[in-house]
Amino acid sequence: MSKSRSTPSRWKQLQSDVIHCSRCPRLIDHCKTVAREKRRAYENENYWGKPVPNFGSPRVGLLIVGLAPGAHGANRTGRMFTGDRSGDWLYRAMQRTGFANQQQSTNLQDGLKLINCAITNICRCAPPQNKPSPAELKNCSPYFAETLELCDPTVLLALGGLAWNATLRELIQIGWFDRTPRRPKFGHGEKVPLNNNRFLLGSYHPSQQNTFTGKLTNPMLNRVFKNAVKLINQNRSETE
Ligand code: SF4
Repeated sequence: MSKSRSTPSRWKQLQSDVIHCSRCPRLIDHCKTVAREKRRAYENENYWGKPVPNFGSPRVGLLIVGLAPGAHGANRTGRMFTGDRSGDWLYRAMQRTGFANQQQSTNLQDGLKLINCAITNICRCAPPQNKPSPAELKNCSPYFAETLELCDPTVLLALGGLAWNATLRELIQIGWFDRTPRRPKFGHGEKVPLNNNRFLLGSYHPSQQNTFTGKLTNPMLNRVFKNAVKLINQNRSETE
């Protein structure tokens, strides 16, 4: 993609490239199969059934990094964290901390807007068993690198250990984080200072596995987002 183009035009191109991508035949096939077979509760809906682009716009304070679209969530609705319980948890915390205009996230026409924030995934197609292969993650990483450059966030919030590790790998590649003898370990509430006054935060993924078991609670998730607000404001006051 040409770097001489404007940021909004590169963002538009990136979104289109993702939607039309077919680099991972296994994942494209799975997305289509899920869309064809459907879950009974959604049998009258038209599933999206293809790669899911980023949600939000470029140049933001916060970039949230998830793992992959849910088979009957984003792979059905076509928007990150939309139409499943993970999204309910995520957008509730985001609305409470000023990163979203509402908590409701059901479909592309529900009026949800992000504020100074964008959401991406390290894998943009719903994978079987929610497990993309290392080769599939590698295929998708150029989209992640481009997203990072275009979003230019102060804070990156990785949801879960896989997103954390993939984000650190990419940050080293693009020079936002210097390779250290021991890579920072993932944990809920972890904070890693990056180059140029940026930060990486970690949170447990708001999957049902974590929220049903009480491993992740609403106050825990709210605290991570409040920390993101603090770091963005701090960065703003230092650069003014
Ligand atoms: S996972 Fe990424 S690279 Fe693979 S087909 Fe989907 S969008 Fe393309």
